[in-house]
Amino acid sequence: MSTPPPGTRVRFEHVSKSYGHVAVLHDIELEAPGGMTTCIVGPSGSGKSTLLRCANLMERPQAGRILLDDLDITAPGVNIDKVRTRVGMVFQHFYLFSHLSVLDNVSLALRKVRSMQRDQAEAVARAKLLAVGLNGLEGRRPADLSGGQQQRVAIARSLAMEPEVMLFDEATSALDPELVKGVLAVMRDLARAGMTMIVVTHEMRFAREVAGQVVFVDSGRILEQGPPDDFFDHPRHPRLRHFLEQVL
Ligand code: ADP
Ligand code: MG
Repeated sequence: MSTPPPGTRVRFEHVSKSYGHVAVLHDIELEAPGGMTTCIVGPSGSGKSTLLRCANLMERPQAGRILLDDLDITAPGVNIDKVRTRVGMVFQHFYLFSHLSVLDNVSLALRKVRSMQRDQAEAVARAKLLAVGLNGLEGRRPADLSGGQQQRVAIARSLAMEPEVMLFDEATSALDPELVKGVLAVMRDLARAGMTMIVVTHEMRFAREVAGQVVFVDSGRILEQGPPDDFFDHPRHPRLRHFLEQVL
């Protein structure tokens, strides 16, 4: 894996978000330290996706700030496109272009957004595809790949922009069980290479192994956070204990 610039930190300060009258995030205080993986777990509908989406400005909080190192990305006048190249995001569904080859899917944004020449863009794309274990599949169409391979194309596409932070929103939840491992392995490699990551996941084993901290979100609030051993072995909040009983 290529090495990202040394650990960009993400900080949520008193972040609140509502949709209409429905409050979804309440006064979120969270630091995702540079070069570390922060895993977010919690029940469905608790606000996990909204939290991630705020971190790359797909959503805007009504209150509070989000800092990328010292840059307040929620301040007026911040260049959203620039923030999104610094903060990559991978979703449950991968949204690849079905009519384009794998190589074109990964190199397209480099040519369109970064105005790179085709040769240079393709060289970067090949390197990222190699990093996610898909070398040799550059000429394929997404439909000819497994779901796990498609998700790895989506990760390579994100990495092509050389992000400093990667957000993963249940990146393995839509995959057949036998395809999950390969995607988690890529995420683990990225974490070990020092990428700052915020990962919403139901993969508790991954969280225990890879995360520097695990965060429990319930009803839009952070109820507990800590290093994985404390979090999983000595949960304090009754809601977390109940949640872990359901999922472990
Ligand atoms: P999670 O990812 O933990 O399942 P979400 O962040 O997707 O939770 O959703 C949190 C709450 O916000 C849910 O009640 C959901 O219905 C609501 N919500 C999410 N996105 C929107 C939206 N665009 N408009 C209105 N309500 C939304
Ligand atoms: Mg979600």
